[in-house]
Amino acid sequence: MRRPQYPGKKFLGNINSKEVHDLDQEDTSGSGCQIDEIVRAGHAVTFDPDILFEAHRLGYDNCAKCLGGSHR
Ligand SMILES: [Zn+2]
Repeated sequence: MRRPQYPGKKFLGNINSKEVHDLDQEDTSGSGCQIDEIVRAGHAVTFDPDILFEAHRLGYDNCAKCLGGSHR
């Protein structure tokens, strides 16, 4: 689910874990992406351009829950 505080953004990174999430494929289960927890903790970051390549370029790894295919 995309968040109104990040208008139009599909990808959201966690600066603490250096993982990137796809908000359109978010796992909202208790052990899922926990996007709201990331936002609440102030660890959320978005990318410009809002593409996976940019996240990878900045050293972010795919979240196993929503994106899979970890590069680590
Ligand atoms: Zn995720």
